[in-house]
Amino acid sequence: MKERGLLIVFSGPSGVGKGTVRAKIFNSPDINLKYSVSMTTRAQRPGEVDGKDYYFRSRDYFEETVREGQMLEYAEYVGNYYGTPLREVNRMLDEGYDVMLEIEVQGALQVKEKVPDGVFIFLTPPDLSELRHRLTGRGTDSKAVIDERMIKAREEIHMMAAYDYVVENDVVDLAAERVKKIIQAEHFSVDRLIG
Ligand code: 5GP
Repeated sequence: MKERGLLIVFSGPSGVGKGTVRAKIFNSPDINLKYSVSMTTRAQRPGEVDGKDYYFRSRDYFEETVREGQMLEYAEYVGNYYGTPLREVNRMLDEGYDVMLEIEVQGALQVKEKVPDGVFIFLTPPDLSELRHRLTGRGTDSKAVIDERMIKAREEIHMMAAYDYVVENDVVDLAAERVKKIIQAEHFSVDRLIG
């Protein structure tokens, strides 16, 4: 039987550049990693593709999925639900792929309860003013939403001690390289080798 892959939980405040770092990692040739597409009730942004960036669904549909026990974790974040569909993640892990979840902190803590041998990585900004600058520059959110996301960012940064690794996103290429090295090293950790 194929060895089950590693569950990689990747978090960090909104605007820190998780998506950009992730894209760099997924573009590299030497990885055996799959991305878990989340379900959300938030409105689709221009350029986002249903089934690739997220499964965009109604609140009713989302709540039904939760009631049926089909979410590994979920959280409400700035007025919308976000969650990880369980079946797809299990299928990819069973096939031997490492699976990356890109999720916020409340969800990551739920995963930690259920999958303690997951690899928990927190991407941190060089400083908070840089975050606001990036959120504003992205041009996708109103000032009120950006203010809420900044409040969340402060809360999330306080929680980073719950993670196994903290990676600073100073230079995207370097941050992506660090995350890749962490994943490679985890495959050879003593605990995993001798169980
Ligand atoms: P955004 O609206 O910017 O795409 O995402 C907002 C936040 O929700 C980000 O921190 C993102 O990582 C997080 N997020 C995305 N998918 C999930 C998910 O499935 N579960 C949880 N708990 N958070 C998610």
